[in-house]
Amino acid sequence: MKGFDTNLRLQASSPEFSNGFLPKRQNFIKLNRRNCYPRSSFSPTMLKLFTSSASRVHHLTPVSRVVGSSPVECPLFKALSQITGWNRRSTSLGHRAFFCSEPTNGEAAAEAETKAVESDSEVSDSKSSSAIVPTNPRPEDCLTVLALPVPHRPLFPGFYMPIYVKDPKVLAALQESRRRQAPYAGAFLLKDDPSADSSSSTDAEKNINELKGKELLNRLHEVGTLAQISSIQGDQVILVGHRRLRIKEMVSEEPLTVKVDHLKDNPFDMDDDVVKATSFEVISTLRDVLKTSSLWRDHVQTYTQHIGDFTYPRLADFGAAICGANRHQAQEVLEELDVHKRLRLTLELMKKEMEISKIQETIAKAIEEKISGEQRRYLLNEQLKAIKKELGVETDDKSALSAKFKERIEPNKEKIPAHVLQVIEEELTKLQLLEASSSEFNVTRNYLDWLTILPWGNYSNENFDVARAQTILDEDHYGLSDVKERILEFIAVGRLRGTSQGKIICLSGPPGVGKTSIGRSIARALNRKFFRFSVGGLADVAEIKGHRRTYVGAMPGKMVQCLKSVGTANPLVLIDEIDKLGRGHAGDPASALLELLDPEQNANFLDHYLDVTIDLSKVLFVCTANVIDMIPNPLLDRMEVISIAGYITDEKVHIARDYLEKTARGDCGVKPEQVEVSDAALLSLIENYCREAGVRNLQKQIEKIYRKIALKLVREGAVPEEPSVASDPEEAEIVADVGESIENHTVEENTVSSAEEPKEEAQTEKIAIEKVMIDESNLADYVGKPVFHAEKLYEQTPVGVVMGLAWTSMGGSTLYIETTVVEEGEGKGGLNITGQLGDVMKESAQIAHTVARKIMLEKEPENQFFANSKLHLHVPAGATPKDGPSAGCTMITSLLSLATKKPVRKDLAMTGEVTLTGRILPIGGVKEKTIAARRSQIKTIIFPEANRRDFDELAENVKEGLNVHFVDDYGKIFELAFGYDKQED
Ligand code: ADP
Repeated sequence: MKGFDTNLRLQASSPEFSNGFLPKRQNFIKLNRRNCYPRSSFSPTMLKLFTSSASRVHHLTPVSRVVGSSPVECPLFKALSQITGWNRRSTSLGHRAFFCSEPTNGEAAAEAETKAVESDSEVSDSKSSSAIVPTNPRPEDCLTVLALPVPHRPLFPGFYMPIYVKDPKVLAALQESRRRQAPYAGAFLLKDDPSADSSSSTDAEKNINELKGKELLNRLHEVGTLAQISSIQGDQVILVGHRRLRIKEMVSEEPLTVKVDHLKDNPFDMDDDVVKATSFEVISTLRDVLKTSSLWRDHVQTYTQHIGDFTYPRLADFGAAICGANRHQAQEVLEELDVHKRLRLTLELMKKEMEISKIQETIAKAIEEKISGEQRRYLLNEQLKAIKKELGVETDDKSALSAKFKERIEPNKEKIPAHVLQVIEEELTKLQLLEASSSEFNVTRNYLDWLTILPWGNYSNENFDVARAQTILDEDHYGLSDVKERILEFIAVGRLRGTSQGKIICLSGPPGVGKTSIGRSIARALNRKFFRFSVGGLADVAEIKGHRRTYVGAMPGKMVQCLKSVGTANPLVLIDEIDKLGRGHAGDPASALLELLDPEQNANFLDHYLDVTIDLSKVLFVCTANVIDMIPNPLLDRMEVISIAGYITDEKVHIARDYLEKTARGDCGVKPEQVEVSDAALLSLIENYCREAGVRNLQKQIEKIYRKIALKLVREGAVPEEPSVASDPEEAEIVADVGESIENHTVEENTVSSAEEPKEEAQTEKIAIEKVMIDESNLADYVGKPVFHAEKLYEQTPVGVVMGLAWTSMGGSTLYIETTVVEEGEGKGGLNITGQLGDVMKESAQIAHTVARKIMLEKEPENQFFANSKLHLHVPAGATPKDGPSAGCTMITSLLSLATKKPVRKDLAMTGEVTLTGRILPIGGVKEKTIAARRSQIKTIIFPEANRRDFDELAENVKEGLNVHFVDDYGKIFELAFGYDKQED
């Protein structure tokens, strides 16, 4: 397809053009690739056919030639006009002139031509081009010509072609001939080099440059073309083909000059049917080629528009020149002087061309289909991505995901257990194989996300510094010395062993005594991350063990979530409200919790979701509970219980002063100098508002007070002083700026307001400096009326009423057990019981009735009270003991008080369970009960003998001022309760 990489040009010559005038219909010149030169420089008429080798679009600009004054009327011409739809009328507008044979204007034309080609040569970037020009030079000038070898294709009359002349002698000769105004030479196609494979054009060119004289002559085809030297630029010479020549003999060797004959086409009959038919066939083939490819459309269009002297031989030359025939075939056409034969040859070439064009079309079509299919897919994919992105459902593409997961595990790859690493690798491979839109892909992705994000082998450095731990614990909590001591012991053991694992601490006590906050302090002291989760009411085992991955929305259990959120494998995990663990219908949460907590098992804890065992042995578990009795036994067995009983008034005052007030002040933005809460007020607050064991309510009340103080301060205008408190220098700077602007602002305002109301301004300032004082008298303004009254219900308990001590989940409390006679009469004896009592308590009441009756029988055998009285015993609801029966002795005393009609000793409280034989059984919550008794201003307490040690262990301030008796038999209680007159202290 060599022919296609040539620029084919068709040249037109017209007097108007040379005058710089360009007729309208020639505007297609604009289509030239780089027509940056002024239109006038086109004047000499170069209208071209331009073929880009890349796009294979031919742009043909034909030559016009006028014979006489009107275009030749020719059937061929009409046929071509029809194909291209060209309007013939416009042709007649153009004047035509001979190109270079007109003696009168030949010189000027040649000169103009030269210019045009010179400028045009700038745009020509192809090595070989041809153009059709009128062929009418003066033969007498050109009988001896320089022989120029052309390497690729023969030059056809009417076309032009650039060649490169390397030989300086030849170049000089050409320039000389131009100067002599005989700018003609012979262009002869080079024969194939018989010695070498000259398929490559550079080789061929190299060879020509080396050939000289006779040698060169032998390599040239005999038939060539008389070529006008249109322009010379450097070594580029533009030749314009005119007529056929045949070499006769060599005249000189360097440069090769030959004598030539001018060849004429054999005479033929214009009306010969065969010739006509052949040429029509050429035209119809052209038409077909045009149908299948648009390649030549421009070619033919411009050709038909501009061709003037359209003849059969010219048609044959045109066809051969523009089609992609090889050099030999083209040379054959050139050498053929018989017009009919020449047309036949051209026709053959064109048919071949048509075949090629058909193949080209199918290839183009197939490629286009393939490309458009791929493009469509690509476009749709891009659109889909854009839509997904817009909707926020863009899923990372697989490789990016894998890279992300790999990057995550890379830093601590050697710390990840081998079995986990293997699963990760397997899942990563699986991820690559799954379709990104499938549900399994998402499952795998989430699974990998969890597997790779866990802190495998990533521990925080544990701190076993006992002194530091002590400081931290003291910083956070007042008192609780026994609890702190236990924790320090624990840390000391950790220090000696090098690890604190293997223990579960359980902090038990009423709400608000600081269990959670102690847990937090332990974490701080040990330098572990803190994580808290509550299992109160938890019934679903999956919360602890995770769901299996097959479930939709499956999640790992709390422990795995904890590890993810803290980012270390040795956090302190606080499991809150372990005594309120629910009962699951599917699986028992308690046993799942046991698996989690048990140091024997949790080194290989298996979460259902994770499906690989994880090591939780480094995790320190701290549980909290209100009452340990409700903790499932297997769990309790593995725990080290530290109970926090609650605080006595004195402790609460300290906590309030040193901890709660400080935080509340800070939270409310109140400064210490702005407020003073008197000791009496604080005491009253604790005694009359917050009697419970913990300090949470106290904390709430103190916060309430400080909020109200804040409001008061703001109302009274104490705000502008605020900014100056900043301690940080940078912050201070900012604050200073703000302060300044505030100041400026206030100054302005002041000037206005001081003029108007100077008095009020002064007053506000005064109040801002004044402290807010809170004492007993105005406490109620801040926290409302007291909830509890300090006075006891009875100054002296009446007959049948005895104060008992109970231990509930809220801490210790006092309760009055009351008995009264419902009915009296012979044989009416019996007992009604009310109150929220469980079975155990009901039994306990029955036992009390029997024991009281027995004692009465011993003490006053004639007393028929129990036999004849129907009694009602009531235990108040709010104080229902949670620790089982401990009110036995209180009930007996109450019954006996009624029977003997004697009230019990003043300020007495008792606790203890009694057997049928009158033995006193030990109870729990000695500290809580003692604290509760103190709160109720009890002076004398009766405890079972077995609890003496518990009491002795209590802090001095708790025991202080109490008269405590320890008894192992009810007889002693009877004496203590009723024998008070005899042994009055
Ligand atoms: P619990 O978990 O036992 O119900 P919290 O730990 O939530 O109680 O404690 C309630 C509030 O009381 C917390 O703000 C805590 O700091 C405070 N608190 C409890 N005991 C003390 C104490 N001994 N010293 C200082 N603050 C305490």
